[in-house]
Amino acid sequence: MPALPLDPGRTIGILGGGQLGRMLASAAARLGFDVIILDPEPDAPAGRVAAHTIVAPYDDPQGLAALAAAADIVTYEFENVPAGAVAKLSEMGIEVAPGPLALQVAQDRLAEKTFLNAQGAATVAFVGADTAAAAAAAVEQLGAPCLMKTRREGYDGKGQRWVEHAPDAAAAFESLGGAPVILEAAADFVRELSIIAARGRDGATAIYPLAENHHEGGILRRSIAPARVTQALTDQAERIAARVLAGLDYVGVIGIELFEMRDGLLLVNEIAPRVHNTGHWTLDGCEVDQFEQHIRAVAGWPLGTTAPIARVEMLNLLGEEADAWLRYAAEPETRVHLYGKREAKPGRKMGHVNRVKPL
Ligand code: AMP
Repeated sequence: MPALPLDPGRTIGILGGGQLGRMLASAAARLGFDVIILDPEPDAPAGRVAAHTIVAPYDDPQGLAALAAAADIVTYEFENVPAGAVAKLSEMGIEVAPGPLALQVAQDRLAEKTFLNAQGAATVAFVGADTAAAAAAAVEQLGAPCLMKTRREGYDGKGQRWVEHAPDAAAAFESLGGAPVILEAAADFVRELSIIAARGRDGATAIYPLAENHHEGGILRRSIAPARVTQALTDQAERIAARVLAGLDYVGVIGIELFEMRDGLLLVNEIAPRVHNTGHWTLDGCEVDQFEQHIRAVAGWPLGTTAPIARVEMLNLLGEEADAWLRYAAEPETRVHLYGKREAKPGRKMGHVNRVKPL
C-alpha cells in the first residue's frame, strides 16, 4: 500500500477500458497521475488515452501480475470484475478501491436488495428463486405482473423478463437460462431518479444533486440535472446515500438508482459501485465532476465540491446517433463527449452530449 494521499506522478490502475475507464483516465491525467488499463480488448477506448494498457482477461494471472507491478492502487469501471481478480491483486499487496464488499453486494441482485433493506433503504418487495417451481411460487407470493431478473450479470435491461401471469413464470425462468433469479414487485413509480455520491478515505462524503433519468428499452437515453425536486426528497436521497456509503465502508464514487413513488417515498432500484452514466452531466454541470471525484477518493485526496454550476440535459448517443457529432458541436450550448469506439453497433453507447443552461 503506497503512502496516501497518492502523489501526482504515481500510477493508478483501472480494470476495464470502456468509456467510463476512458473518462476516469482523463481525469486522473489532469491530476498528474499515470494510468494503466487492463482490458481483454486490444483497442479499448480507455487504453487509447492511458499511458499503458495490458490486454488480458480480467482473471489472467500474468495480466494481473503486470498490473500489480505497474500500479500503486487499482480501481475499476464496471461491477462485474471477478472476485478472484481482486483477491489476487490484494495478495500481491495492491489495494482495490472500492473494496470487495461493494463488488460482492453489487454483483448479486438478491444480496444487493437484502443489503439495502438492512441499511434501512427501502426497495420493491422481492423474492429469490433458484428453480422454475420456486419462481412460480415467488410470482404467486408477489402477485403478477412482476419482474424476473437474473441475480447476476444483467445490465441495461438485459437478463430481465416481465411475468404477466403466474403460469408464465416457469417459461420465463427457462428463457433466462435457468440461472438463479430474483422476482421483483412492479414499481409504479412517477419518475426515475439517481444520486451520485462519493466517500473519501477519511469517511468524508460528497453528494451530487439528483438527476432525473429516462430509459428506453432498459437503456438510459436522457438525464436532466439538477432534477426539480423538493428539499424533502433531496434529504431522503442523501440519507439513503449516506447509509449505503457507510454500510459498505466505501471509497470512491457510487451511483444509486431510485424510483420516486406516488407517496413521495424513494425506493432503491440498484447501486453501481463506480462512476455512473447518470452522472455524466457533472462533467459540465458541477465544479468537480464524478470522474475527478472518484480519482480523488481512491487516491486519498480531499473530495471536491459537488456544487452545480449549470443545468444540464445529458443525451446518450447510441449507435449511429454519434454520426451527428458535427451538428452537436455546432450548437453553442452543447458539449460533445465521444468515446472513440471504432464500430457503431445499434444501442452501443458511442458518446454523450451535455446541453448546458444557466442554473
Ligand atoms: P435495472 O437493470 O434493474 O436497472 O432495470 C432497468 C430498468 O427497468 C429500470 O431503469 C426501470 O425502468 C425498470 N425496472 C427495473 N426494476 C423494476 C421494477 N421492479 N418495477 C418496474 N420497473 C423496473
